[in-house]
Amino acid sequence: MQYISTRGQAPALEFEDAMLSGLARDGGLYVPETIPQMSADDMRSLQGMSYEETAFRVMRPFVGSTLDDETFRDLIQNAYAGFGHAARAPLVQLAPNHFLLELFHGPTLAFKDFAMQLIGQLFQEALGRRGERVTIVGATSGDTGSAAIEAFRGLENVDVFILYPHGRVSEVQRRQMTTPSEGNVHALAIDGTFDDAQARLKDMFNDHAFRDDVRLAGVNSINWARVLAQVVYYFSSAASLGAPDRSVSFTVPTGNFGDIFAGYIAKRMGLPIDKLIVATNQNDILHRCLSTGAYQKGDVLPSISPSMDIQVSSNFERALFDVYDRDGGAIRQLMDELQTGGFAVSQGALERLQDTFSSGRVSEAETLAMIARAHREMGELLCPHSAIGVEVAETQRDASIPMITLATAHPAKFPAAVEQASGIHPPLPNRMSDLYERPERVTRIANDLQALQEHIRETRRS
Ligand SMILES: *Cc1c(COP(=O)(O)O)cnc(C)c1O
Repeated sequence: MQYISTRGQAPALEFEDAMLSGLARDGGLYVPETIPQMSADDMRSLQGMSYEETAFRVMRPFVGSTLDDETFRDLIQNAYAGFGHAARAPLVQLAPNHFLLELFHGPTLAFKDFAMQLIGQLFQEALGRRGERVTIVGATSGDTGSAAIEAFRGLENVDVFILYPHGRVSEVQRRQMTTPSEGNVHALAIDGTFDDAQARLKDMFNDHAFRDDVRLAGVNSINWARVLAQVVYYFSSAASLGAPDRSVSFTVPTGNFGDIFAGYIAKRMGLPIDKLIVATNQNDILHRCLSTGAYQKGDVLPSISPSMDIQVSSNFERALFDVYDRDGGAIRQLMDELQTGGFAVSQGALERLQDTFSSGRVSEAETLAMIARAHREMGELLCPHSAIGVEVAETQRDASIPMITLATAHPAKFPAAVEQASGIHPPLPNRMSDLYERPERVTRIANDLQALQEHIRETRRS
């Protein structure tokens, strides 16, 4: 299985090299050259299967021959062993034909643990076998950073630097990044927004001298291996509701378009998905684009769902690549136009996007109202991101098709908004109840490429 760049000018790579490099050298994102298909019988066999075995069967064809079956199964077992729920991704029912997929039982209480815990295992295995080291640099609006630090802390062959926007992450998110004491993990609070952090990260990847010097690797949601790990729970949840013999729809609280793009891959593999619904907060570039075709950057507005405070959705490039018939030149041109503010999706491409995706936008007041209502009427305490999903799903769903809404974080990760809306202070699970007592370690840093590169060169261990 080969991976090609969405901008058409980087060499095709095997799975492992695409994973270790993250962003392609032409600035594009890696996608599989072809999408493996799951037959109806293969999908039926997932019904009642463990999450780990489902993960093995769904991901196996994408991984190629570098890993043997036994090693890959072991890595998957290790990745999910630290989760606080035996089902890993349990489904609970909210209303007739509306289900919540709880993706927050991992070590940092957000869905990003599904991909990051696996990536930690895959990196360790690959680097150990090759006798190599890498420097991982990531940008985060909160949850990616904590998940990455948790997945890589203490690993021999890796230094991890995480850039987060100073003052714009929740206290639980910040503490999950700043309290691990291992010398190979480094939290950097940048003076700027998440989009600034993500832009500096892209600058570092595009500086090939720096990239080679520190052996830069990326684990942001642009990393194909992360998307792949997230494809699994679309299959596991749909199978438990009767797929492939029954279609389902999904609503996904979305920022960088990574999680919902995994759903799109599941659909391309043959999973009968009726609708994939994008749910955004007031930072609604995706909702505007899917409604009108205009992909125009606005200012980032801080919200109570900070993990979706994004105006450039990196993974959307992968969807565009497909609806532009995999024309790397067309994507390069769109991304050039984005540098100066935005672009218009062609009519044909927009129609193809709308065949698969719908979208909705939720205000701050509506988010709080849904947290209160879900608590009162559905018996569920939702985090603000998940509440945005449930609100859009309730407004748009077709009552005859099962709807699965992704719950992307535990309410205790965003206690202020949850308490404001519901009157309930959501407690942290016991295993992390001392988070507020542990000492913090963080470097405040300017939104400046050179300052960042200097700091990384001087601080990494090799
Ligand atoms: C990252 C995150 C999202 C957005 O996911 P994308 O893959 O960027 O669309 C939504 N909710 C929570 C809690 C997150 O951490």
